[in-house]
Amino acid sequence: MAPLRIAIIGAGPAGLTLARLLQVKGIPYTIYDLDAHAYSRDQGGTVDLHRRGGQMVLEEAGLLEEFKKLSRPEGEATKLVKYDGTVLVDENVEKVKRLEEHQDRPEIDRLVLRQLLLGSLTEGNNNIVWGKKLLGVEESNGKIDLQFADGVEKAFDIVVGADGAWSKVRPFLTDEKPFYSGITAIELWATNVDAQHQWLSQYVGQGSMFMFDQGRAVISQRNGNNTIRTYAAVKQPETWSNDCGIDWSKPEAKTQLIEGYFIDCADDLKRVIIDSNDNLVVRSMYMLPVDIKWEPKAGVTLIGDAAHLMTPFAGVGVNIAMVDALDLSRAIASCVDNKENIGTAVSAFEKEMFQRSQMFANKTWKNMQSHFSATGIEERAALARK
Ligand SMILES: Cc1cc2nc3c(=O)[nH]c(=O)nc-3n(C[C@H](O)[C@H](O)[C@H](O)COP(=O)(O)OP(=O)(O)OC[C@H]3O[C@@H](n4cnc5c(N)ncnc54)[C@H](O)[C@@H]3O)c2cc1C
Repeated sequence: MAPLRIAIIGAGPAGLTLARLLQVKGIPYTIYDLDAHAYSRDQGGTVDLHRRGGQMVLEEAGLLEEFKKLSRPEGEATKLVKYDGTVLVDENVEKVKRLEEHQDRPEIDRLVLRQLLLGSLTEGNNNIVWGKKLLGVEESNGKIDLQFADGVEKAFDIVVGADGAWSKVRPFLTDEKPFYSGITAIELWATNVDAQHQWLSQYVGQGSMFMFDQGRAVISQRNGNNTIRTYAAVKQPETWSNDCGIDWSKPEAKTQLIEGYFIDCADDLKRVIIDSNDNLVVRSMYMLPVDIKWEPKAGVTLIGDAAHLMTPFAGVGVNIAMVDALDLSRAIASCVDNKENIGTAVSAFEKEMFQRSQMFANKTWKNMQSHFSATGIEERAALARK
């Protein structure tokens, strides 16, 4: 039997993990990504890999030991603060040693995870084609053709859409599109914190600081590169960031944000926003329906955010993207090894993925309702104290 011709669209955590797992199993593939090269844009902040999520997958990929060297178990430390500044929980004080021993959810910068996965692809970047923007997918004579901005690549047996929130593979399978979740976050960076933002560094601690309240939140996360990213989030309509009267490119934007939405908060929380002054990015948060599923179609499937985009309020997106990659790599391998029908194997994979994603999407949705309520921080504190 000729080897299956496999295309992975997207070199994010989902696509790169699948590539690594296929490589371990000796199965050839090609990744296409729209970025001009591996590091052409900011890769985002920190993510935590769970023992039975991302860590389990990295173990199968032969990368767990390397991950442990690169990750930050102390980054799991959580500080929970009420809007009036009362500190309800501070694991920096009580728990860091235990976190370092248990390594349940160590943090890793997305950039470092990308480097780990990319570096593990022994074929080097030969199997990754950068600067390829997918526009759409078509079936032709029982194979799948890929329409890119600069031409067509033909006759694939399997196309995996790992192309994130705005997937161009998804429309081949379903009409569902991401919709606005109701939350917009203003992402604020503080860089070189040890030298230039010592108060902030001390206040946030080694991991994440959360303030949840009715219709608003402040979340600060320490990243590995001496940077803290803060998300000042509000529950507002989709067009809010454009029509709220704040010009986000102006230095006074943060003061206006505080005056409009955080004025009654403790001085410490206002200072977190003010001191995070090295960059500002507006992030409107989108999601797919909690119960998304589609009828299987031969030769095309989705993994990661392309399949089940959710807001980050359960911190599971990367983890389930990697578990999708693991399960799909096994399904593909079963066809190569046992000559099982690829359509049947992928359909069985999707069935399990739908169940998993629905469970985590429900959890994420419930967390979002709780976090942006008046009792959100108390509810989170009760969980942390268990
Ligand atoms: C603020 C924030 C914090 C988060 N925190 C966490 C956390 O703590 N823990 C956690 O588990 N998850 C977290 N997440 C979620 C996590 O980032 C995503 O679930 C994860 O990145 C999904 O990976 P992916 O590979 O499916 O998609 P992506 O990371 O979006 O990668 C998609 C890839 O596809 C490429 N691509 C897109 N369109 C095309 C196209 N048309 N043609 C070719 N290539 C294309 C892109 O360039 C990209 O490389 C967070 C998300 C946000 C926004």
